Amino acid sequence: MKKEFVVIGLGRFGGSIVRELMSLGAHVMAIDNSSERVDEFASIATQAVIANSTDESVLTSLGIRNFEHVIVAIGEDIQASILTTIILKELGVAQITVKAQNDYHEKVLRKIGADVVVHPERDMGIRIANNMMSNTVLDYLELSDEHSIMEIKANDAIAGYSVIDLDIRAKYGINIVGIKRGNEIIVSPQASDKILLGDIMLVIGADVDINRFVKKALHG
Ligand code: ATP
Repeated sequence: MKKEFVVIGLGRFGGSIVRELMSLGAHVMAIDNSSERVDEFASIATQAVIANSTDESVLTSLGIRNFEHVIVAIGEDIQASILTTIILKELGVAQITVKAQNDYHEKVLRKIGADVVVHPERDMGIRIANNMMSNTVLDYLELSDEHSIMEIKANDAIAGYSVIDLDIRAKYGINIVGIKRGNEIIVSPQASDKILLGDIMLVIGADVDINRFVKKALHG
C-alpha cells in the first residue's frame, strides 16, 4: 500500500516535499489557501486542495485524520502554523512534522505536541558549515538536539584497523552501525571487520562524542 501524506503550505519548502514524496511513489494531498499555489500543484500532487488549515471543520471534512503523516510547512504566518498544529493534534493525526520559523516558534510547537520540528534554513546552515569544516563528516541525520547518525569517511589514520581495534564503543561511547564500501553496505559490522581506506562509516551517538572521535582518531 502506498504511503499517504498531507502537506500544508506550498512554499519552497512544502513544495519541494510534495515533489519529492511524489517521486518516491507516495500519495500526497497538497493544501494551501492560495489558489495560485494550489493550481501549480494540481498536476504534481495526488490531490491539491484550496483550504485554510486553521479551519477545523475544513480539515475534518478533508479526512485529515486518516493520513499517516501531516507536514505543516507554513512559514511566515506563525499563528496559522501553531493553530494548524493544535487542530491536527486534536484530530488525532499520528505523525505531525512542522517547519519552525525561529526558536520561539520551535519551542511552542514542541510544547503543543508536534512530533518533529524542522528548521530548514538553520539546519542546512549547520550542515553546510560542518561539511566545509571537515571533509571527513560527509553527512548527518539529526536524531535529537544532541544525537546524530553521521557518515564518516575513513582516512589512513584508521584504515586497516578492525572495529574492535578502534574500540570506539568503549573509548567514545558511540557505535558503528554500518559501513558503506562502494556499492556494498555492511550492516552491523562484526568486531573483527576491518575498516578500509575510503569506507564510509555510519556512526551513531551523541554529537560531542562523535566529534571527539573524528578529532582524535581521524585527525589526532
Ligand atoms: P518557503 O520558505 O518554504 O517558501 P515561507 O517561509 O516563505 O516558505 P510562506 O510562503 O509564508 O512560507 O508559507 C508557505 C505557504 O503556506 C504559502 O503558500 C501560504 O499560502 C501557505 N499558507 C499560509 N497560511 C496558510 C493557511 N492558514 N492555510 C493554508 N495554507 C497557508
